Amino acid sequence: MTLHDSVTVLPGVGPKRQQALAELGLRTVGDVLFYFPFRYDDLQVKDLAEAADQEKVTLKGVVVAPAVVTRFGPRKSRVNVRVQVDHAIVLVTFFNQPWLKDKFEQGTEAAIYGKWDAKRHTLLGMKVLATQTEDTPSLAGIYPTNKNIRQSTLVQLVKDAWADAGSEIQNVVPAAVRERFKLMSDQEIVHGMHFPDTPAEAKAARRSAIFREFFLFECQIQALREDSQTVSNGLAIPYDNAALKALIQTLPFELTTAQKRVVNEICLDMKSPHHMNRLLQGDVGSGKTIVAAIVMYAAITARYQAALMVPTEVLAEQHYAKLTKLFADFPVKLALLTGNTTTAARRDITAGLRSGEIDLVIGTHALIQKNVDFANLGLVIIDEQHRFGVNQRKILRDKGLKPDLLAMTATPIPRTLAITAYGEMDVSTIDELPAGRQPITTTWVRKNQLRGAFDRVRQELQAGHQVFAITPLIAESEKIDLQNAEQLYEELSREFDGVAKVALLHGQMKAEEKDDIMRAFSQNEVQVLVSTTVVEVGVDVPNATVMLIFDADRFGLAQLHQLRGRVGRGHAAAYCILVADPKNDTGVARMQVMVETTNGFTIAEKDLELRGSGDIFGAAQSGLPSFKIADPVNDYNTLNAAQQTAVQLFKADPSLSAAEFAPLRAYLAAQQQKVGSLD
Ligand code: ADP
Ligand code: MG
Repeated sequence: MTLHDSVTVLPGVGPKRQQALAELGLRTVGDVLFYFPFRYDDLQVKDLAEAADQEKVTLKGVVVAPAVVTRFGPRKSRVNVRVQVDHAIVLVTFFNQPWLKDKFEQGTEAAIYGKWDAKRHTLLGMKVLATQTEDTPSLAGIYPTNKNIRQSTLVQLVKDAWADAGSEIQNVVPAAVRERFKLMSDQEIVHGMHFPDTPAEAKAARRSAIFREFFLFECQIQALREDSQTVSNGLAIPYDNAALKALIQTLPFELTTAQKRVVNEICLDMKSPHHMNRLLQGDVGSGKTIVAAIVMYAAITARYQAALMVPTEVLAEQHYAKLTKLFADFPVKLALLTGNTTTAARRDITAGLRSGEIDLVIGTHALIQKNVDFANLGLVIIDEQHRFGVNQRKILRDKGLKPDLLAMTATPIPRTLAITAYGEMDVSTIDELPAGRQPITTTWVRKNQLRGAFDRVRQELQAGHQVFAITPLIAESEKIDLQNAEQLYEELSREFDGVAKVALLHGQMKAEEKDDIMRAFSQNEVQVLVSTTVVEVGVDVPNATVMLIFDADRFGLAQLHQLRGRVGRGHAAAYCILVADPKNDTGVARMQVMVETTNGFTIAEKDLELRGSGDIFGAAQSGLPSFKIADPVNDYNTLNAAQQTAVQLFKADPSLSAAEFAPLRAYLAAQQQKVGSLD
C-alpha cells in the first residue's frame, strides 16, 4: 500500500464508502493519514474525586448487580448498571444500545466513558472501554465527519492506513527547517495527531502540523510565483505616457495621491516583461474604477485589448455606461458582453474581439470562458472579486493567452493577513478617499427604538432619496432566512405605504430576477430595497442615502463596512442605521466600532481583535484560504515564520533542485496536478 493509492485499497471501502470519504476530501491513503482529529476524548481513567460535574470522564469500577434493560418504544431503551467506583456506587445509563447489557458481568471490572452528574451521582454512558488490553488509547481522537460515515469507521480506516502505509510517510518539510523550528517529523506528526499517548504529545504534534500546513501553503504560493515569472513570462506593454496624461486631464477631478501612486505601480508592472499578477485593494468609494480605466487605456495605447470582468450584469452595464462616457473623445472601441446580449450582437462582438477591432470589453466572468477569442488580449481586470482563482488563470493560459492580471477588491484585509490571502500576488493599496466625500453618519439603535429610525427613513424618502434595508442570512435553513426577509418586506411595505415602493431581493431568486429588481432600484422605480446581503457587491446607486441594517450584530464588521459603503456616493448626506440588541459586551463594542470608525482597515483590525478570524473570515467571504487545522489569525506568528521560511527557501534554490528538497518538490508537483484536474 502506498500513500498515493486510492482509499479503496483499505479494508471495507467500496464505492459507497469511497464516495462518502470523497465528500470529506479523502481520496487517497495519504489523505486519510493526514485527516486529523479536531479534539480528543480523554479516556484516561480518573478517580471519582477528579470528576467534574457535567464533564466527560472515564471511570473504572466493579459491576455490583446485573445490568437491567428497560424498553419504552420500538427503538427506545435504556441499560442501567450499578458500578462501585472507589467507595461509592455509581448508576451508569446507556440509551438505545440494549446489546451493551452483555458487556457487564456482575463482579467484573468495567471502564466507562461518559458524562458525570455529580449531584445525582450518575454517569451518562457514552463508551464502554476495554479494561485489559494495552490497545486502548488514553486519548481518542474525534474527527470531523458527515452523516455518511461514522466516527468509528474513520478511526478504523486511520488505524489500517497507519499500519500498512505509515512507514511510507516522507518528510516534505526539509530537515533544516524542522531543526530550526523544533518540529516533529511527518511520521511523528501523524502518529501524535491520531494516537497520542499523552496530551503533551497531541499538543506538540498539533504545533508541528500547523507549521507544516502553513509552510506547504506558502511553498505552493512561492512555486506559483516562480511559475508566473519564468515559465509563462508575460507581456511588456509599452504604453503611451502622453496619451495617458491626456486622459487624466479630462477627468472632472484630480486623482488622489494614492490613486496616482497605484496607477504608477500598475503601469510599471505592465511595462516590465514579466507577467503581472497584482491585487488592487482599496476601501469602498476609494476610486478603483477610474484606476482600472486608466490602466486599461494604457494597454490600449500599446495596441493591446483589455477586458473588465465583473460579478453581475447590472454592474457590467453600469461600468459600460461610465466608461463609454469617459472614453467618448478617445479612440477606444468598447463592447458590453453579458447574458442579455442578443445573439446577433454577440456574433458581432466576438468577431470584433477576434479581429482586434474592439479594444475594451466589459462583461461577467463568463467572458473568458465562453467561446470568446481575442486578437491581442493584454490586460484582464477582475472587479470586486476576492480572489482570482488559479483555475481561471489556467483557462487563460490554456487559450494561449498570457495577459497581465489585475484583481480589485474592496474587502479590507488587515495588512498582517494580506500575505496569506494574496500571497502569490503583488499588492497595490489605495489608502485614501477622494476629498469632499459626504460623511456617512452611523447610528446604532436597539429594536425598541426602531420608531425613531423609521422617522429618519421617511424623511429621506420624502426628500426623494432611496433606502437599502438589509436582513442577514442567519438561520440554519434558507427557508427561515427567506421568511425573515419576507416579513421585513411586508413590515416596510406597510410602514411606507404611499411614500415609497418597496421591493424584495433575496438569494434564492434567479439571476435575471435579481438583475431586474436591481435595475428597477437603480432607476428609482423602487425606493426601498429589502434584501439579504446580495447587494454587498459593488452596485452604485448615488441616490440611496440610507443603509438600514437589521440584526447588525450578526454581521462581521468588515461586511457591515462594505454594506455601509453602498451609500454616501452622491451629493447628499448619508446615514447608516444599525439595528441590534447585542447579547454581550463584545457585541456592544463591535457596534461602537462601527459608529466611531469609517476606515476599512482600522475596522478590519478591530474585527480581528474582537472576534478572531473564525467568524468574520468565513472563507468565501474574505477570500482567505481555508486551512484544515491551522488558523491564520490565532496562529499568526507561525504563519509569519512559515511564510518567511518559504520565501528564503525559494530565494536560495528557486527550482528546489537540491536532493533534500525532493519530497517537497514531489508534493508541490502533485498539488498542481490536483488543481489542474478540477476544471
Ligand atoms: P470603488 O473603489 O468603490 O470602486 P468607485 O471607483 O466606484 O469606487 O468611485 C466612487 C466614486 O468616486 C465614483 O463616482 C468616482 O467617479 C469618484 N471618484 C473617483 N476618484 C475620485 C477622485 N480622485 N476625486 C473625486 N471623486 C473621485
Ligand atoms: Mg468599484
